[in-house]
Amino acid sequence: MQRQLTRLAVLTSGGDAAGMNPAVRAVVRTGLDLGIEVFAVLEGLQGLVAGGDLIRPTTSKDVGGILYRGGTVLGTARCEAFRTRDGRRQAARNLVERGIDALVVIGGDGSLTGADIFRDEWSELLGELVERGEIDQTEADAHRRLTLVGMVGSIDNDMFGTDMTIGTDTALHRITEAIDAIHSTASSHQRSFVIEVMGRNCGYLALMSALATGANFVLIPESPPDTDEWAESMCRALEAGRAIGRRSNIVIVAEGAQDMHGNPISAEQVKQVIEDLSGEDTRVTSLGHVQRGGSPSAFDRNLSTVLGYAAVQHVAADPDGEPQLVGIRGNQIVHSPLMESVAKTKSVADVIAEHDYETAMEMRGGSFGDSFRMLRTMVRAQPHSSAPGHRRLRLAVLHGGGPAPGMNTAVRVALRAGMDLGHTVLAVKRGFRGLARGNVEEMDWMSVSGWVSRGGAELGTSRTVASPEMLAEVAEQIKAHRIDGILVVGGWAGYQSAYQMQTLSDVHPALGIPVVCLPASINNDLPGSELSIGADTALNSIVSDVDKIKQSAVASRRSFIVEVMGHDCGYLALMSGLATGAERVYLPEEGISLRDLEIELQSLKDGFERGKRLGLVIRSEHSDDVYTTEFIKALFERESEGLFDVRGAILGHVQQGGDPSPFDRIQATRLAWESVKHLVEQAVADVPTNAMVGLQHGKVQFTPLADFPTLVQAHAQRPHEQGWMALRAVANVMAGSVR
Ligand code: ADP
Repeated sequence: MQRQLTRLAVLTSGGDAAGMNPAVRAVVRTGLDLGIEVFAVLEGLQGLVAGGDLIRPTTSKDVGGILYRGGTVLGTARCEAFRTRDGRRQAARNLVERGIDALVVIGGDGSLTGADIFRDEWSELLGELVERGEIDQTEADAHRRLTLVGMVGSIDNDMFGTDMTIGTDTALHRITEAIDAIHSTASSHQRSFVIEVMGRNCGYLALMSALATGANFVLIPESPPDTDEWAESMCRALEAGRAIGRRSNIVIVAEGAQDMHGNPISAEQVKQVIEDLSGEDTRVTSLGHVQRGGSPSAFDRNLSTVLGYAAVQHVAADPDGEPQLVGIRGNQIVHSPLMESVAKTKSVADVIAEHDYETAMEMRGGSFGDSFRMLRTMVRAQPHSSAPGHRRLRLAVLHGGGPAPGMNTAVRVALRAGMDLGHTVLAVKRGFRGLARGNVEEMDWMSVSGWVSRGGAELGTSRTVASPEMLAEVAEQIKAHRIDGILVVGGWAGYQSAYQMQTLSDVHPALGIPVVCLPASINNDLPGSELSIGADTALNSIVSDVDKIKQSAVASRRSFIVEVMGHDCGYLALMSGLATGAERVYLPEEGISLRDLEIELQSLKDGFERGKRLGLVIRSEHSDDVYTTEFIKALFERESEGLFDVRGAILGHVQQGGDPSPFDRIQATRLAWESVKHLVEQAVADVPTNAMVGLQHGKVQFTPLADFPTLVQAHAQRPHEQGWMALRAVANVMAGSVR
């Protein structure tokens, strides 16, 4: 008969990473929800060996209020004792004495390896403890096996078995903020900056931060420059940028950067080279531990919450299975044999040490190599020249729908990718309406300089859905400007206009040119993509505002009803609720009933009566026509019987603004790059098809635009398929609610 888990312990180990706290919180709350007693181990593996007060039973309340905290509240330590059998025997004794035979480890490959050795030796260690008379046979018999599950906490993102490790996204936030700031000072003085980022064996942070900040050169361990004259060629590239008017030069160097022979390349060395060869005033900034610190990003909070939840669910269902590593692929939770993933991870370091860089790049996976290739185009001072006889297409870019952070990033990439492929790229101002009026201009390579990080929409956008009359004018303009294809970077109105355009192509054949729609809307309400550009920025903006709102209320007994945007889609509400620890989230997908409000009110009253100090409800703007934020506030206040007061906060347009988050910049880059390639293919195809580009299972995919009406709901502005709704169950467990 299968063993039933009754007690488990959770620990954080190795280097700290933002997101470890939400992971611990999720493990504790999921365990308790399943009727498992959860123990927290302080100071990592050291705590297991030392025992005593370092292994303690934990309640749901103990892990309250830690979501927003960086690092790990449990503490972490390097532990030499755990590398010895004596140390591990001591650890086994400490667990058995407390009746614990399951372990959730959040750490890097070192910690996971140590934990797996411990699991492997478990029954022998118990045998030795019995022999020594430290535990008795019945205790040993009751805990024959140690269940182990791991999650990767590491800012390097260098682990097999997961697309993202806990802490990486936050580290990218820190790096991007720093480089954005350096960009402004560097441009003011026309200086060069060399920035060193973490990553001994992995160039992920360096590469992605370079993509996200528009850096001009990057050096990573997996792909060293392919020449001994790398210094000269780097300086030539930087000088070419200066010659076309670039005011700053930023070079990003990963800690483990090396030349083609495996000799380290340090940031200081790069600085010296630039000063010697180019005579540029150059400064070095080593970002160091700043990258580890700070409050976890929205993505890291939710990633760790979901992983913690999945890890406990997994071991509870299969405690005697092989130890697993829980991770994500695309937006799916996946698990893989723990030690296989660790071994593969270690083998990349070996391959790099053997200077087999091609294999190293391959092992990092598809999007890593693609990102490197994109970066090499984006940083060029001018496009590649095209072959003789090449057909030069005229591609237009425009926006539709509300503004979304990341729109400018996408336009920048579309322009450079289009020009680099040998085509002309036209900017259309103010969306379809602008196109109808002939607001069309040819862009040049440097016209988008600095757009990678700029919020808003420089080209302007329009929420108007193109009418048949407007589309007749659009057809005329397409002919007048000889446009061969259109990239629509936008939201609902943009998609609808593009669809209308397609349906009217029988009447106006000029409308029959290929169109690609790229999802850019904070609402994340577009079909064909799991995520749209701008939603991550909006989410981070909401989360940081709600963190502040929560802080403002700690001294008083208060409940907040926070209203967030999303139109008919509850994505921002559910994800921000998950990331901020809201007790209740109201979504347009579910609506609000009077009964819901009664239950919530009662639960708030019970909570405040028991000494609770803060309540948080998040309501998506279109959850219900009658039960508005104002209504709920008034109702709760009236019925609170003086136990608490109630405030409403409508976050409003701040959610649409701000500089795009690193994730939005990176995804905008990927999607725009692939869209332009697709558009070019379709423009020369015999029978072109229109498409919606998007991320599906973490990959860039194209869906026919003709499917738009069948993929969306008839009476609401949202797709039928909303994969993120699966997180509803996680949110309920975290909030301790039953709905
Ligand atoms: P990370 O988990 O971030 O990779 P480390 O490599 O420093 O960090 O490992 C953290 C801890 O894991 C070590 O201090 C040690 O206690 C334990 N550990 C690492 N490797 C082993 C091993 N081979 N055997 C036993 N314990 C190990």
